[in-house]
Amino acid sequence: MFRTLRSTFTFHLSLYPKTGVLVSSGSIPFDPTLPDISFMRARINGKNVPFIPGSSLKGPIRMYSESFLRSLSDENKDRYACNISGRSCDKDINRKWSVEEKYERSCLACRIFGNTLLASVVRFEDLFPFRDITEIDEEKIREIENSIAVRPGVGIDRAKGSVKGGALFSYEAVTFPFNGRMMMKNPEKWQVGLIFKAFEAANMGIIRFGRNKSRGMGWMEVKVEKVEIFSPSSKIVFTKFENGKFSSLSADPEEMGINDRFENGFIVLEGEDIEKLKGWTLENLENEIREAVGGVKV
Ligand SMILES: [Zn+2]
Repeated sequence: MFRTLRSTFTFHLSLYPKTGVLVSSGSIPFDPTLPDISFMRARINGKNVPFIPGSSLKGPIRMYSESFLRSLSDENKDRYACNISGRSCDKDINRKWSVEEKYERSCLACRIFGNTLLASVVRFEDLFPFRDITEIDEEKIREIENSIAVRPGVGIDRAKGSVKGGALFSYEAVTFPFNGRMMMKNPEKWQVGLIFKAFEAANMGIIRFGRNKSRGMGWMEVKVEKVEIFSPSSKIVFTKFENGKFSSLSADPEEMGINDRFENGFIVLEGEDIEKLKGWTLENLENEIREAVGGVKV
Protein backbone atom coordinates (compact mmCIF):
# COMPACT_ATOMS: atom_id res chain seq x y z
CA MET A 1 0.00 0.00 0.00
CA PHE A 2 2.69 2.46 0.92
CA ARG A 3 4.98 1.18 -1.82
CA THR A 4 2.49 1.86 -4.62
CA LEU A 5 1.28 5.43 -4.94
CA ARG A 6 -2.31 5.30 -6.12
CA SER A 7 -3.43 8.76 -5.09
CA THR A 8 -2.93 11.64 -2.71
CA PHE A 9 -5.73 13.91 -1.55
CA THR A 10 -4.63 17.34 -0.29
CA PHE A 11 -7.29 19.29 1.57
CA HIS A 12 -6.67 23.04 1.83
CA LEU A 13 -8.43 24.09 5.01
CA SER A 14 -9.47 27.33 6.67
CA LEU A 15 -10.58 27.18 10.29
CA TYR A 16 -12.83 29.96 11.54
CA PRO A 17 -13.21 30.23 15.33
CA LYS A 18 -16.84 30.52 16.47
CA THR A 19 -15.70 30.96 20.07
CA GLY A 20 -12.36 31.92 21.57
CA VAL A 21 -9.69 29.30 20.92
CA LEU A 22 -6.65 28.51 23.03
CA VAL A 23 -4.08 26.04 21.76
CA SER A 24 -1.16 25.97 24.14
CA SER A 25 1.76 23.75 24.91
CA GLY A 26 0.47 23.51 28.46
CA SER A 27 3.69 24.63 30.06
CA ILE A 28 3.89 27.89 31.97
CA PRO A 29 5.68 30.49 29.84
CA PHE A 30 8.90 32.00 31.11
CA ASP A 31 8.23 35.36 29.51
CA PRO A 32 6.73 37.51 32.32
CA THR A 33 4.99 39.79 29.81
CA LEU A 34 2.93 36.88 28.46
CA PRO A 35 -0.24 35.62 30.18
CA ASP A 36 -0.02 32.46 32.31
CA ILE A 37 -1.37 30.31 29.52
CA SER A 38 -0.46 31.64 26.11
CA PHE A 39 -1.24 30.50 22.60
CA MET A 40 1.36 28.42 20.74
CA ARG A 41 3.82 30.53 18.76
CA ALA A 42 6.45 29.53 16.24
CA ARG A 43 9.51 31.55 15.28
CA ILE A 44 9.25 32.29 11.54
CA ASN A 45 11.43 34.79 9.66
CA GLY A 46 12.49 36.21 13.01
CA LYS A 47 8.89 36.76 14.12
CA ASN A 48 6.72 34.98 16.67
CA VAL A 49 3.65 33.70 14.86
CA PRO A 50 0.67 32.07 16.60
CA PHE A 51 0.02 28.63 15.11
CA ILE A 52 -1.95 25.43 15.65
CA PRO A 53 0.18 22.26 15.47
CA GLY A 54 -1.28 19.59 13.20
CA SER A 55 -1.42 17.21 16.16
CA SER A 56 -3.92 19.53 17.90
CA LEU A 57 -6.32 18.90 15.02
CA LYS A 58 -5.58 15.22 14.56
CA GLY A 59 -6.14 14.35 18.23
CA PRO A 60 -9.76 15.56 18.56
CA ILE A 61 -10.61 14.32 15.04
CA ARG A 62 -9.28 10.86 15.87
CA MET A 63 -11.21 10.81 19.16
CA TYR A 64 -14.47 11.73 17.42
CA SER A 65 -13.86 9.20 14.63
CA GLU A 66 -13.20 6.43 17.15
CA SER A 67 -16.49 7.03 18.92
CA PHE A 68 -18.32 7.26 15.58
CA LEU A 69 -16.76 3.97 14.41
CA ARG A 70 -17.54 2.23 17.70
CA SER A 71 -21.15 3.46 17.53
CA LEU A 72 -21.64 1.44 14.32
CA SER A 73 -20.96 -1.83 16.10
CA ASP A 74 -23.05 -3.89 18.47
CA GLU A 75 -20.24 -6.24 19.33
CA ASN A 76 -16.51 -6.35 18.64
CA LYS A 77 -16.23 -2.59 19.04
CA ASP A 78 -12.45 -2.99 19.22
CA ARG A 79 -12.36 -4.05 15.58
CA TYR A 80 -13.85 -0.67 14.68
CA ALA A 81 -11.60 1.28 17.06
CA CYS A 82 -9.30 -0.32 19.56
CA ASN A 83 -8.85 1.08 23.02
CA ILE A 84 -5.55 2.96 22.79
CA SER A 85 -5.30 3.43 26.54
CA GLY A 86 -6.08 -0.24 27.06
CA ARG A 87 -5.14 -3.06 24.71
CA SER A 88 -4.37 -1.26 21.43
CA CYS A 89 -4.32 -3.44 18.33
CA ASP A 90 -0.60 -2.91 17.65
CA LYS A 91 0.14 -5.11 20.69
CA ASP A 92 -0.93 -8.11 18.59
CA ILE A 93 1.12 -7.12 15.57
CA ASN A 94 4.60 -8.40 14.83
CA ARG A 95 6.82 -5.66 13.42
CA LYS A 96 8.31 -8.11 10.92
CA TRP A 97 4.96 -8.67 9.20
CA SER A 98 4.17 -7.22 5.77
CA VAL A 99 2.17 -3.97 5.49
CA GLU A 100 -0.80 -6.06 4.32
CA GLU A 101 -0.64 -8.26 7.42
CA LYS A 102 -0.24 -5.26 9.73
CA TYR A 103 -3.17 -3.48 8.05
CA GLU A 104 -5.35 -6.57 8.26
CA ARG A 105 -4.75 -6.87 12.00
CA SER A 106 -5.32 -3.17 12.72
CA CYS A 107 -8.68 -1.73 13.72
CA LEU A 108 -10.35 0.75 11.36
CA ALA A 109 -9.28 3.75 13.46
CA CYS A 110 -5.63 2.65 13.33
CA ARG A 111 -5.96 2.00 9.58
CA ILE A 112 -6.67 5.68 9.01
CA PHE A 113 -4.85 7.38 11.91
CA GLY A 114 -2.01 4.90 12.31
CA ASN A 115 -0.45 3.14 15.28
CA THR A 116 3.12 2.44 16.37
CA LEU A 117 3.53 -0.12 13.57
CA LEU A 118 1.32 1.31 10.84
CA ALA A 119 1.76 4.68 9.09
CA SER A 120 -1.12 7.12 9.24
CA VAL A 121 -3.10 7.70 6.03
CA VAL A 122 -3.92 11.25 7.18
CA ARG A 123 -1.34 13.89 7.93
CA PHE A 124 -2.23 17.30 9.35
CA GLU A 125 0.23 20.09 8.76
CA ASP A 126 0.56 23.05 11.14
CA LEU A 127 -1.97 25.84 10.65
CA PHE A 128 -1.04 29.53 10.49
CA PRO A 129 -3.03 32.76 10.37
CA PHE A 130 -1.68 33.28 6.85
CA ARG A 131 -2.42 31.51 3.60
CA ASP A 132 1.13 31.99 2.48
CA ILE A 133 4.23 32.20 4.62
CA THR A 134 5.54 35.10 2.48
CA GLU A 135 2.53 37.15 3.65
CA ILE A 136 4.06 37.50 7.10
CA ASP A 137 5.04 41.08 7.81
CA GLU A 138 5.51 43.25 10.86
CA GLU A 139 2.20 45.06 10.50
CA LYS A 140 0.12 41.90 10.09
CA ILE A 141 1.77 40.32 13.13
CA ARG A 142 0.98 43.43 15.17
CA GLU A 143 -2.63 43.34 13.98
CA ILE A 144 -2.89 39.67 14.97
CA GLU A 145 -1.22 40.18 18.35
CA ASN A 146 -3.54 43.11 19.12
CA SER A 147 -6.61 40.99 18.40
CA ILE A 148 -5.62 38.30 20.92
CA ALA A 149 -7.79 38.60 24.00
CA VAL A 150 -6.40 37.97 27.46
CA ARG A 151 -9.06 36.56 29.76
CA PRO A 152 -8.97 36.05 33.48
CA GLY A 153 -9.40 32.53 34.78
CA VAL A 154 -10.16 31.13 38.19
CA GLY A 155 -8.46 28.00 39.41
CA ILE A 156 -10.93 25.39 40.59
CA ASP A 157 -9.97 22.88 43.24
CA ARG A 158 -11.04 19.64 41.56
CA ALA A 159 -11.38 17.73 44.79
CA LYS A 160 -13.51 20.28 46.64
CA GLY A 161 -15.21 21.83 43.61
CA SER A 162 -14.56 25.26 45.04
CA VAL A 163 -12.36 28.16 44.01
CA LYS A 164 -8.75 27.59 44.96
CA GLY A 165 -7.45 30.25 47.33
CA GLY A 166 -5.83 32.98 45.26
CA ALA A 167 -5.63 30.77 42.18
CA LEU A 168 -6.21 33.50 39.62
CA PHE A 169 -4.54 33.23 36.26
CA SER A 170 -4.93 34.65 32.79
CA TYR A 171 -5.14 32.97 29.40
CA GLU A 172 -5.15 33.98 25.76
CA ALA A 173 -8.02 33.44 23.35
CA VAL A 174 -7.85 33.96 19.60
CA THR A 175 -10.70 34.54 17.15
CA PHE A 176 -8.89 34.93 13.80
CA PRO A 177 -8.88 32.20 11.13
CA PHE A 178 -6.09 29.70 10.50
CA ASN A 179 -5.07 28.04 7.26
CA GLY A 180 -3.27 24.82 6.53
CA ARG A 181 -3.32 21.50 4.73
CA MET A 182 -4.35 17.96 5.50
CA MET A 183 -3.03 15.20 3.31
CA MET A 184 -4.31 11.65 2.72
CA LYS A 185 -2.06 9.13 1.00
CA ASN A 186 -3.76 6.19 -0.70
CA PRO A 187 -7.01 6.59 1.28
CA GLU A 188 -9.89 4.15 1.17
CA LYS A 189 -13.22 5.69 0.15
CA TRP A 190 -14.72 5.32 3.65
CA GLN A 191 -11.67 7.08 5.11
CA VAL A 192 -12.30 10.18 2.98
CA GLY A 193 -15.98 9.99 3.99
CA LEU A 194 -15.07 9.72 7.66
CA ILE A 195 -12.91 12.86 7.42
CA PHE A 196 -15.80 14.81 5.82
CA LYS A 197 -18.04 13.48 8.61
CA ALA A 198 -15.57 14.73 11.24
CA PHE A 199 -15.43 18.18 9.60
CA GLU A 200 -19.25 18.32 9.82
CA ALA A 201 -19.03 17.49 13.53
CA ALA A 202 -16.46 20.27 13.98
CA ASN A 203 -18.77 22.71 12.22
CA MET A 204 -21.54 21.82 14.66
CA GLY A 205 -19.24 22.33 17.64
CA ILE A 206 -19.25 18.62 18.52
CA ILE A 207 -15.50 18.41 17.95
CA ARG A 208 -13.63 21.21 19.71
CA PHE A 209 -9.95 22.07 19.62
CA GLY A 210 -7.41 23.23 22.17
CA ARG A 211 -7.95 24.00 25.84
CA ASN A 212 -10.87 25.21 27.96
CA LYS A 213 -13.39 23.17 25.99
CA SER A 214 -15.45 22.73 29.15
CA ARG A 215 -15.66 26.54 29.35
CA GLY A 216 -17.22 26.59 25.88
CA MET A 217 -14.06 27.42 23.95
CA GLY A 218 -12.43 25.70 20.98
CA TRP A 219 -15.27 25.71 18.43
CA MET A 220 -13.85 26.18 14.93
CA GLU A 221 -15.69 25.91 11.65
CA VAL A 222 -13.72 23.89 9.11
CA LYS A 223 -14.02 25.11 5.54
CA VAL A 224 -12.54 22.96 2.78
CA GLU A 225 -11.32 25.58 0.30
CA LYS A 226 -9.79 23.19 -2.20
CA VAL A 227 -9.11 19.48 -2.67
CA GLU A 228 -6.15 18.67 -4.85
CA ILE A 229 -6.06 15.06 -6.01
CA PHE A 230 -3.01 13.53 -7.58
CA SER A 231 -3.26 10.22 -9.34
CA PRO A 232 -0.88 8.84 -11.99
CA SER A 233 -3.88 7.21 -13.71
CA SER A 234 -5.79 10.52 -14.06
CA LYS A 235 -8.83 9.06 -12.34
CA ILE A 236 -10.11 9.60 -8.81
CA VAL A 237 -8.58 6.57 -7.15
CA PHE A 238 -9.36 5.14 -3.74
CA THR A 239 -7.49 2.25 -2.19
CA LYS A 240 -9.46 -0.90 -1.59
CA PHE A 241 -8.50 -3.58 0.92
CA GLU A 242 -10.00 -6.99 0.37
CA ASN A 243 -8.92 -10.51 1.29
CA GLY A 244 -5.64 -9.22 2.70
CA LYS A 245 -4.69 -7.36 -0.47
CA PHE A 246 -4.66 -3.76 -1.64
CA SER A 247 -6.21 -2.78 -4.94
CA SER A 248 -7.72 0.33 -6.55
CA LEU A 249 -11.24 1.63 -6.86
CA SER A 250 -11.23 4.22 -9.66
CA ALA A 251 -13.90 6.62 -10.77
CA ASP A 252 -14.02 9.11 -13.60
CA PRO A 253 -14.60 12.64 -12.32
CA GLU A 254 -17.41 12.84 -14.89
CA GLU A 255 -19.12 9.80 -13.35
CA MET A 256 -19.15 11.61 -10.00
CA GLY A 257 -20.66 14.72 -11.56
CA ILE A 258 -17.42 16.65 -11.14
CA ASN A 259 -16.89 19.44 -13.65
CA ASP A 260 -13.11 19.72 -13.45
CA ARG A 261 -10.77 17.41 -15.35
CA PHE A 262 -7.34 15.91 -14.70
CA GLU A 263 -4.29 17.60 -16.11
CA ASN A 264 -0.90 15.89 -15.81
CA GLY A 265 -2.26 13.63 -13.07
CA PHE A 266 -3.74 16.50 -11.04
CA ILE A 267 -7.29 17.68 -10.50
CA VAL A 268 -8.27 20.61 -8.28
CA LEU A 269 -11.76 20.53 -6.81
CA GLU A 270 -13.45 23.70 -5.57
CA GLY A 271 -16.97 24.71 -4.50
CA GLU A 272 -19.60 22.42 -6.06
CA ASP A 273 -17.01 19.83 -7.03
CA ILE A 274 -15.98 19.40 -3.37
CA GLU A 275 -19.66 18.85 -2.50
CA LYS A 276 -19.80 16.12 -5.18
CA LEU A 277 -16.79 14.32 -3.69
CA LYS A 278 -18.25 14.71 -0.19
CA GLY A 279 -21.69 13.43 -1.25
CA TRP A 280 -20.12 10.49 -3.06
CA THR A 281 -18.00 9.40 -0.08
CA LEU A 282 -20.76 9.95 2.51
CA GLU A 283 -23.59 8.30 0.56
CA ASN A 284 -22.96 4.76 1.69
CA LEU A 285 -20.46 5.43 4.47
CA GLU A 286 -21.88 3.31 7.30
CA ASN A 287 -22.29 0.24 5.09
CA GLU A 288 -18.83 0.62 3.65
CA ILE A 289 -17.36 0.87 7.15
CA ARG A 290 -19.19 -2.30 8.20
CA GLU A 291 -17.93 -4.01 5.04
CA ALA A 292 -14.36 -2.89 5.78
CA VAL A 293 -14.52 -4.26 9.32
CA GLY A 294 -15.38 -7.67 7.86
CA GLY A 295 -11.75 -7.79 6.76
CA VAL A 296 -10.30 -6.99 10.21
CA LYS A 297 -8.70 -10.12 11.63
CA VAL A 298 -8.62 -10.46 15.39
ZN1 LIG B 1 -6.32 0.07 16.63
